[in-house]
Amino acid sequence: MHDILPDDQVYFQKVCKSVESIANFYTFKRIETPLLEDADIYYKGTGEDTEIVEKQMYTFRTKGGDHVALRPEWTPSIVRSYIEHGMQSLPQPVKLWYYGPCFRYERPQAGRYRQFHQFGFEVIGEAKPAIDCQIIQMSHDVLKEMRFKNLIIEVNSIGDSECRPYFKKNLMNYLRSKRSSLCPDCQRRLKQNPLRILDCKEEKCQRIKAGAPQIIDHLCESCHSHFKQVLEFLDESEIPYNLNPYLVRGLDYYTKTVFEIFENTPQGKEQGALMGGGRYDNLVKILGGRNTPACGAAGGVERIMSLLKNKETKPDTSKDAKVFLAQLGNLSKKKSLKILEEFRRAKITVAETLSKDSLKAQFRTANKLGVRYVLIFGQREALNDEIIVRDMDKGSQEVFKLDAVVAEVKKKLKNL
Ligand code: AMP
Repeated sequence: MHDILPDDQVYFQKVCKSVESIANFYTFKRIETPLLEDADIYYKGTGEDTEIVEKQMYTFRTKGGDHVALRPEWTPSIVRSYIEHGMQSLPQPVKLWYYGPCFRYERPQAGRYRQFHQFGFEVIGEAKPAIDCQIIQMSHDVLKEMRFKNLIIEVNSIGDSECRPYFKKNLMNYLRSKRSSLCPDCQRRLKQNPLRILDCKEEKCQRIKAGAPQIIDHLCESCHSHFKQVLEFLDESEIPYNLNPYLVRGLDYYTKTVFEIFENTPQGKEQGALMGGGRYDNLVKILGGRNTPACGAAGGVERIMSLLKNKETKPDTSKDAKVFLAQLGNLSKKKSLKILEEFRRAKITVAETLSKDSLKAQFRTANKLGVRYVLIFGQREALNDEIIVRDMDKGSQEVFKLDAVVAEVKKKLKNL
């Protein structure tokens, strides 16, 4: 678990702003759900055999005896809210977005934290392939909005309850014949969830995977046609993608389309997927609602932030103060609060250190902040209702009446 320190907030905010602007454009509404949920929604929804639920979920029993979990991912929680609040009677689909913390007990390594932030989009109540494409496009757009250029989108279809069982059997037969060469985790997975073996990063399992049957060749007609249309939409929208027949994603609830987006750089590969998602047509029903198709995607804020930090262009920090108010003496200190309030109303950020009395110390801070203008407000100025504006670049100074200074500084900032 980690802190997001003040210096990193610019990146944290940048991710949130990009997500919000894309979500607003596509008329998604924001949702917040509790950090703590009945653990059952993840056992049922995310799936008991998944890595997240089996190994990574923080669960505990409350004093009242409820078995609760810290949210390891948002989707089951959002679907629980959709059902609980009768959103199925709203015009469908319901389009939602979110941004907030998740918890997973992971082995700490590059791109893996135990508390991290996810954002995402969910479209609940629509089965058409255009939605899958829209979710992929929005995910791609969010990353492009943050100036990621070298992105890879990997896409696959993992079928549905009609075709997947046949494929699983097929795969199981193949994997059983290779059992002794699989890693210990995969030997165990063989019984519970053989699809996950396709996702294993162990080298010996990768070799076995290369000869495994591919689900894409075993899709039923409806899944096949759905996937074909998703790819046609992607082609039409000129969204670049790679087919990855081994992409299964770790979660049980996915049906049909699944995808992941990476940055195609050494550091990007080390971090892992920046975003991932897919269709989950059974989840609403699994959690007790009506049969309702849905599709969504989630992104990892910390992974994106760590790659953003390495880019040459820092996100816009124009909100940082360009003006500093330096005061000297009791009267000016008293009047300073009112001046600051006037600048705030004019939406000009002004830094200050009202706790300091020495002009020298205040100028030191102003220099550190790299502001362009320092407002010097001494005892004489306070008596005359005047203030000095010093241009730190030019070294020049002008005196203004107090009631004119906000407008004058505004003019100067505009001309920068
Ligand atoms: P998932 O729900 O596992 O598909 O995760 C969606 C996205 O969240 C991933 O693509 C990552 O960017 C991010 N993510 C998942 N787990 C972690 C973690 N432990 N630490 C940081 N980011 C994570």
